[in-house]
Amino acid sequence: MREATQTEVRRAFDSGLPGLRPPRSVIVVGAGLAGLAVAHELAARDCEVTVLEASDRAGGRAYTLREPFADGLHAEAGAMTLTPHCHYAMHYLRELGVETETADLFDTTFSYFARGRFFTPDPESVAEAGLGLHPHEKDLGVGGMIERYVSAVADGLQPDLNAPDWAVTQRLAPYDHLSVHEVLTERGASQAAIDLMEPLFLEMRGGDLKTASALSWLRHEASPHSLGNADPRWAKVKHGTDRFPQAFAERLKSRIHYRRPVVRVEQDAERARVTVLAHGRMQTLEAERVVVTVPFSAIRHIDFTDAGLTDAKHDVMRRVKYSSVVRVYLQMRRQFWPQRNASFSTDLPIRWIRDATPRLPGPRKILECLMTGWRARAVSVMTEEERLDFVLDEVERMLPGAREHYETSTSVCWDQRPYAEGAYILPERGHSALMPVIRRPEGRIHFAGDHAGFEPNGGSMTFALESAARTLVELGAAADAS
Ligand SMILES: Cc1cc2nc3c(=O)[nH]c(=O)nc-3n(C[C@H](O)[C@H](O)[C@H](O)COP(=O)(O)OP(=O)(O)OC[C@H]3O[C@@H](n4cnc5c(N)ncnc54)[C@H](O)[C@@H]3O)c2cc1C
Repeated sequence: MREATQTEVRRAFDSGLPGLRPPRSVIVVGAGLAGLAVAHELAARDCEVTVLEASDRAGGRAYTLREPFADGLHAEAGAMTLTPHCHYAMHYLRELGVETETADLFDTTFSYFARGRFFTPDPESVAEAGLGLHPHEKDLGVGGMIERYVSAVADGLQPDLNAPDWAVTQRLAPYDHLSVHEVLTERGASQAAIDLMEPLFLEMRGGDLKTASALSWLRHEASPHSLGNADPRWAKVKHGTDRFPQAFAERLKSRIHYRRPVVRVEQDAERARVTVLAHGRMQTLEAERVVVTVPFSAIRHIDFTDAGLTDAKHDVMRRVKYSSVVRVYLQMRRQFWPQRNASFSTDLPIRWIRDATPRLPGPRKILECLMTGWRARAVSVMTEEERLDFVLDEVERMLPGAREHYETSTSVCWDQRPYAEGAYILPERGHSALMPVIRRPEGRIHFAGDHAGFEPNGGSMTFALESAARTLVELGAAADAS
């Protein structure tokens, strides 16, 4: 069966998935946004759908922290920002009546802290910061560097790079075998310039610039989802991202079974079978089809020995890499730093610090430190107490008064979160070749989730939902064929 293209899926979805005749019964593994959307559409079409979720809540990486904060403060552990181009996310937010508001980004003063000094991204401020820039970089400012080292490369690869259906054309292919770092240095960027640009377009790639695919990165940077193309229509879910999966879950009610980790998936010509742990007992359920939405970072906990998967699928499950991200949240008695709605990229090991509560009434505030790559992996192996102590020391060096105003904290180490074990896919060199194999259904077993998207930088709510739409089209085609 030929796979529907990205454009075909979008067209089918926008016209309400006409003629989707679902299988009689489907088991969905995972109640993240991808699994919830698949189940929501199937339930609306009278399919007998069962969602098995390992944890005790819906949403997966769409996860808002409300504890241990005072005064109703909250912070996002995972997904936070939506663009008006997040087509699938915007569709479901509207359908479910979930409100959005302007993203924090637009009310933020972004600046740097390096070598013990604060400076802004504009040319004069950067030139005075005493960084090891090449002479030709001194008057560029960070905007000029991005123009020269990123936009110019991306522009040279159009129209292929922004084609609506992602395909690695002959012109693009070499970039999938180069790392982000290689492309930047080949264009003449100094390490100091790379350090300045990184938080603006790369931090969300996990900080592993020397292994990340330049092609995946360029596709993202040239897209309307890149920070460089941000506009005031960028949004976030009002009162916390978790409201989004909760709205799905309220509709699905008892079709979702919590604390039901799936440990085995099998199939034969007639049925698919799923073994699940229920209060310490193993239970096997059957359905016509199974949709697995578990990130490949955590899939090794499921046994597929008798699932008849191809070697290529087993191989790709082992090979796909995920970014390491740690977010530490410090509740402060009040704002003691002078900058309004601060967001700082630093040369300290804590990397990025921001006011995570710019629009909440205060006076209390949450300062968030976000680390990626090896720094994230390093603080992940600390105890919670050690991590907090380490982060507070670093914040104090930059914003004196942090210890005095500190009240409480929590942190999320995505590599160590059960059932996630990573933040989002890190498309390494050569990733494009893996993408069709990740998505491909194998008999009665289908694969959805942000890693199984059409876009190489899958880590986004809308791409998770797009993968759900693609899977629904696939299920419909499979039912028609049987
Ligand atoms: C730090 C961070 C920042 C992000 N920022 C943004 C952002 O600003 N904007 C944006 O759009 N996206 C962002 N994302 C990405 C977004 O959160 C994800 O792309 C999206 O939520 C993925 O949905 P999913 O359903 O594919 O996977 P998940 O949300 O991971 O859902 C998978 C579900 O499967 C369950 N599961 C796992 N194993 C089993 C098992 N064995 N049995 C049963 N259930 C199981 C899990 O508990 C989970 O509920 C961010 C993610 C992170 C981590």
